Amino acid sequence: MFKAVFPGSFDPPTLGHLNIIERASAVFDELIVVVAENRQKKYLFDVGERLEMMEKIVKSMSHGSNGGNQARNNVRCASWDSLIVDFMKKEDIRLLIRGVRGMDDFSHEFELSMMNKSLHPDIETLFMTTESKYIVLRSSSIKELASFQGDVSHLVPPLVAEALKKKFAGN
Ligand code: ADP
Repeated sequence: MFKAVFPGSFDPPTLGHLNIIERASAVFDELIVVVAENRQKKYLFDVGERLEMMEKIVKSMSHGSNGGNQARNNVRCASWDSLIVDFMKKEDIRLLIRGVRGMDDFSHEFELSMMNKSLHPDIETLFMTTESKYIVLRSSSIKELASFQGDVSHLVPPLVAEALKKKFAGN
């Protein structure tokens, strides 16, 4: 069984994240999307909101009703408020997936993978390169765009676009 985790803030989930989930779910037997809760970070959506969005998205992906993004029925979601290596130890998973958009992402991800390896030598980090259409897609710019009531419907799943609209209503 090749089980893998795909951890991230997903604040909020974007079509770039979904693309990685879709492709990773095609390659591994089971994929767990881990929504991270880090007390040092400030999020727009709290962990419960992010997990709920991700669960709904994954469900609609496995039903093929998510605008072209499709995942197999082998994806589940979880939240975690500590080191990802501890989640992986608990679940007995060795493979960690990270998406990379370019060299900037890679140098950061490379350091993270070294850190994780030093904490838990059995862990292997696998990098999945983004698809070119998602290269400039990042949660932070989507939040900024949405805060000015910009149209984000081509960048995120419909339920995320709706949630962003609600968050920034009245701004
Ligand atoms: P984190 O705060 O852990 O970096 P993110 O939610 O920003 O969490 O990203 C989670 C993972 O998804 C990271 O590996 C990140 O590089 C990847 N990712 C984010 N946006 C994209 C994208 N457009 N294409 C491919 N991978 C992406």
